[in-house]
Amino acid sequence: MQKILNYINGVLVEPQSNTWLDNYKPSTGKVYALIPDSDANDVEAAHVAAKAAFADWSQLPKEKRSAYLLKIAQLIDLNLDKLALAESIDNGKPLKLAKTVDIPRAAANFHFYGTAILHYASEAHSMEDTAINYTLRQPVGVAGCISPWNLPLYLFSWKVAPALAAGCTVVAKPSEITPMTAYLLSELCIEAGLPKGVFNIVHGLGPKVGNAIVSHPGIPLVSFTGGTATGKQIASIAAPLFKKLSLELGGKNANLIFADCDYEKMMSTTLQSSFANQGQICLCGSRLFIERSIYEKFKTDFVSRVNALKVGEPLEETTKIGAVVSLAHQEKILSYIALAQQEGGTVLTGGHKVELDGEHSQGYYIAPTVIEGLAYDCRTNQEEIFGPVVTLTPFDTEEEALAMANSTPYGLASIVWTEQLTRAHRLANQIHAGIVWINCWLLRDLRTPFGGVKASGVGREGGFEALDFFTEPKNVCIKLK
Ligand code: NDP
Repeated sequence: MQKILNYINGVLVEPQSNTWLDNYKPSTGKVYALIPDSDANDVEAAHVAAKAAFADWSQLPKEKRSAYLLKIAQLIDLNLDKLALAESIDNGKPLKLAKTVDIPRAAANFHFYGTAILHYASEAHSMEDTAINYTLRQPVGVAGCISPWNLPLYLFSWKVAPALAAGCTVVAKPSEITPMTAYLLSELCIEAGLPKGVFNIVHGLGPKVGNAIVSHPGIPLVSFTGGTATGKQIASIAAPLFKKLSLELGGKNANLIFADCDYEKMMSTTLQSSFANQGQICLCGSRLFIERSIYEKFKTDFVSRVNALKVGEPLEETTKIGAVVSLAHQEKILSYIALAQQEGGTVLTGGHKVELDGEHSQGYYIAPTVIEGLAYDCRTNQEEIFGPVVTLTPFDTEEEALAMANSTPYGLASIVWTEQLTRAHRLANQIHAGIVWINCWLLRDLRTPFGGVKASGVGREGGFEALDFFTEPKNVCIKLK
């Protein structure tokens, strides 16, 4: 069986303990690879390598760091088919999605930061003829990067690329549930000739490897994407150590659909924003608030379009909904559907597992699920489910829609559908979220700030915000007379 290896000090190595974890294929429910069950000793080895590499890497001219990143981007592009297949097998997502979104975006992340660093400048503050201040932006040191399983290579590279571009060296941990493309990336980094120790990947469990990274005194900053409960735990460990922290956490995103919207455009995009990647994108809109005058029409049309989405084997071209990521996650989603029914909700479609034939009969499939009749403040409408489940709720006024949208502890993203310009701006101003999409979804310009408010996170990724995070500003004041 294939063994995934750690990438430490420029080489692929087994975990020091020589213990391994099973890696499951969600589409069949079968183990297909082994993952290092690494521990604090492996993190320490990665840290020693990263610390040693920092002196040279942080001083390397940015053009040279850029060239390495662009080379990695090119290699990802060249290996698109192989990486997309690996991502689909490891995560359960449709191959088509991995090929058109996940892997191209991972290449784009390296490409973007490989070029952004060339244009990164710092400010000067003149005190007329008394003094001049200028700001040095210096890489912080060894960065800890921890990422989740839903967009494995995409989100992993979204952290690693700006860290490396800024001149940090990295100790990273991908999710143990989807480690394969990070492993393949380590092979590409070797092929790109990335200097040893600059980038290290330690595979294994969050409470062991993740915790060892977060609590390591020699890792002064941590960039984390994952669940809010894990983020809270990480913050409690990192805060007394005065680490820089970037936390991209969960969401419970609202769609506000007004009767004056472009109905067809709204309908096709809402199908995407509800069920892309089996609803396992932190930006998916899972609470659909619909103006009452179009509620019944929306419900009928939406349910009929959802019924046409094919749940199937991820590698099949026609599959729209693949497998969810794990058995535990499938059970969690089904438990929320049961909760919704206990809370008085009516399942309009879906609500159950889907059993495929043959070798896929044990895969983790769930029918896309639409529920109505729930109070906006019940648990189903307040807690993150992170699966192919959405709720429908009618509203009468803009104020009511806004209040319901803002009622959760989360504040990551929001989607507004209206053709009324003033309403769009008014709502964008008032919604509690880090990102508001008007008449679109998942349209991303990598220069824009990315992140959430409230329990959805602390800090921003994207553009120069990420380069700011991985560098420390130092003010230098020169007296002129
Ligand atoms: P988790 O919080 O369970 O895990 C995220 C990462 O943290 C994994 O690598 C995990 O390892 C690791 N980890 C777990 N426990 C610890 C710990 N105690 N110390 C350090 N690291 C730890 O999230 P999921 O992987 O389940 O991802 C889904 C969540 O991510 C959802 O809530 C989703 O909303 C959120 N998310 C947020 C995004 C954003 O940009 N705001 C984007 C994408 C997802 P292991 O896998 O081994 O448990």
